[in-house]
Parts: sequence; structure tokens; C-alpha cells
Amino acid sequence: MKRIYLDNNATTPVHPEVLEVMLPFYRDFFGNPSSVHWAGREVSGAIEKAREQVAALINAAPAEIVFISCGSEGDNHAIKGTAEALRDKGNHIITTTVEHPAVLETCKGLEKKGFNITYLPVDRDGMLNLAELEKAITDQTILISVMWANNETGNIYPINEIGAIAAKYGIRFHTDAVQAVGKLPVDVQKAGVHLLVLSGHKIGAPKGVGALYIKRGTRLTPLLDGGHQERGRRAGTHNVAGIVGLGKACELAGEHLVENAAHMRRLRDKLEQGILDAVPDNKLNGHPDRDRRLPNSLNISFAYIEGESLLLNLDMYGIAASSGSACTSGSLEPSHVMGAMCVEVSLAHSSTRFSLGAETTEEDIDFVLEVLPATVQRLRDMSPLYDCKKTEPCEMCETVKRI
Ligand SMILES: *Cc1c(COP(=O)(O)O)cnc(C)c1O
Repeated sequence: MKRIYLDNNATTPVHPEVLEVMLPFYRDFFGNPSSVHWAGREVSGAIEKAREQVAALINAAPAEIVFISCGSEGDNHAIKGTAEALRDKGNHIITTTVEHPAVLETCKGLEKKGFNITYLPVDRDGMLNLAELEKAITDQTILISVMWANNETGNIYPINEIGAIAAKYGIRFHTDAVQAVGKLPVDVQKAGVHLLVLSGHKIGAPKGVGALYIKRGTRLTPLLDGGHQERGRRAGTHNVAGIVGLGKACELAGEHLVENAAHMRRLRDKLEQGILDAVPDNKLNGHPDRDRRLPNSLNISFAYIEGESLLLNLDMYGIAASSGSACTSGSLEPSHVMGAMCVEVSLAHSSTRFSLGAETTEEDIDFVLEVLPATVQRLRDMSPLYDCKKTEPCEMCETVKRI
């Protein structure tokens, strides 16, 4: 069976060159980088090289990079660390309704500890109103946290403008750039961010490693207490091989950024147009302007059917995609991002995400376009909702009329 992987926003395959540079650190160089002897020195140099590679990709200084275990850790660290460090300055944080759970759940936790959180709404395209953001600022605001790009829709947020607003009011700015890094140019200086998070497994490095950019002079309480690794900002013996892999992945991402983005963009556009043309009663989720979305992401709902059943049927053809809905405690709840965008519940349930990678081929896309329309039609023919269209008007018919 073919294996077509279109779920790169969930995780990416490890790049062969990344694996190559990692292997010696499992096989031969086993030292603890904090040790002063030869075994430690052998690996501490490799970590510093990786720090330079990560810093170069986002235009930071190496000393501003802290290695962490994953994107979720970085978001937790940035937000909780700020809340604790700046508690004497205020108790208000501004974020959005479409953030990753690593941000949303962290903020919800802080609410229980006496912090006020403003969750900015988005419009039907999933975009923010920056005037509303500015209006939300109070003299208690200590942090603005807005993701660079959304993992479900691919929407890109105007980070430079938000950075300018944060600077105008002297407020700290954190961005979850897990989806942006490697797909868009990311420049921490231009963006005016104080804290930025990236994750290895979303950019061709392995799982279990990431980086937190902490702008020089930014006071942040550590998440983990212990040894003095990472200049006291993150205790715990380094994941040496993972860090070396992350460095290489960042180097490759920088070298191939333009070409990879153009490649994914061309194929994504082909997939998007092909589906829009061949499958009636669809709804594109996210900004209609493709320039305002990540070059690799497409999120689309198909009226009358469940996203989960479409995924299972695509899986039978070897196509890996993902549904916008998350399986929460046995009940299928539509995604919070679709909810925030006021996507009708029935359409939110059928939202399907295709996220391409640098390895995606033209044949992959052609195959999806070959089997998807008929698969959707087959599921619709089995759907009682679809039949109803032919008899009397109902909620679904009304929904479909609106899309
Ligand atoms: C995947 C993802 C995360 C979490 O990263 P992990 O390394 O899996 O913890 C956070 N934010 C966004 C936008 C993501 O896509």
C-alpha cells in the first residue's frame, strides 16, 4: 500500500542528515556535558555548536537559546515563568482563543491562581482584531502571548505588528512559533519578541527536544529547579543527541527555507484547488487568502460527513491526514479553533487538515485528488443527513446554503 503522509503539523519524519549527526552521540560520545573531563568536553562543544545553529535560524544570539524537551515545555516556561517573575508588576495576561493547548491550559491554570486572562476572539477567517488587542491592555498587563501560526488552520498572525504594540506599552511578548519555524522567515529582532518557542519534531528533528528563546535581560522564573545547566534557566542533564539533531535541523531549515516553502506551497495550492473544484458543499477553514496561511496547511470541512470517518477511509488508502476535532474523554468534541471561528458544529465535526512536508511529492497530491472526491461522495451517500437534502429543509441544508 502507498504511504502518503499529510500530517506534518502533528509531527515530521526525522531528516536523514539529522539522524546521521545524532548517531555518534548515542554510540561513542556518551559524556555528561557538565563534566570537566574529556568525555564531557566531547559533547559540550557539540551543544554549543547546536546553540549557534538554532540562534542563526531565528536571528538570536546563542546565549539567548535555552534547550528544552518540547514545545509544550517552552510555552509553559514562558507563561508561568513570566507570571511568577512579574507578579509584583501585574496579574493580567492577553492571549487568544486559538492558541495551542500548551498555552490555553497554562493560562487556565493561572486563572485559578488569581491571574486575569483575556482570550481575544477571532473572526470567521480565524484572524485577530489588533485594535481589540490594544484595547485589552491595562496597567496590570504583564504578557501578550500570540502564536506565530496556527497548527489547525495554518493562519499566520501579524507578529511584527503585535510586537510593535507590545513595545509601545512596554509589555513582554511571547510567541509560540512551533509551526512557523522552518516554514516562514522568523526573526526575533524584527518581531520584537521576548520569548519564542520552537519544537524539534515539527522541523525534522526527533521528538523530545526544542528551544526557548529568551531575549537578553528578560527575567523569567525557571520551570525546573536543580543543576546549573543552561545557565540556571533549565535544570537537567542535556538531551545531547536530540540537541545536536535540533541544531542540524535548524541549519537545514535555514538553508532550504525558500525552496521548501515554494515546493509545499505549489503542492498545497494544487491540493486545495483540486478539492475545492471536485468536492461540492465544502468549506475552507482559515484565511481565504493563501498568503495569509502557512505554505503547507489546508483545513477544509465537507458537509454531511464526519471528519473521523473520512480519516479512517483515507487511511485505508494509506493517506494520513488529521481531523480538526480532538477526542476528548470518549466524546468527539469539535476543535476549539473551529469553535472560536464560529464554524457550525456539523461542519467543525467534518473539518479535515492536510499538512504537507518538504518530502511530499506531486504523486502524493495526485493520488489524494484521485481518491478523495469519490470517498467523500460514498460517505455522503451513506449519510442520513445527505438524503434529507432531497426531501425537506433542515438545519444541515441551511448550513450548506450558507457555505
Ligand atoms: C505541536 C505544537 C506544540 C507542542 O509542541 P510539542 O513539542 O509537541 O510539545 C505547541 N504549539 C503548536 C502551535 C504546535 O503545533
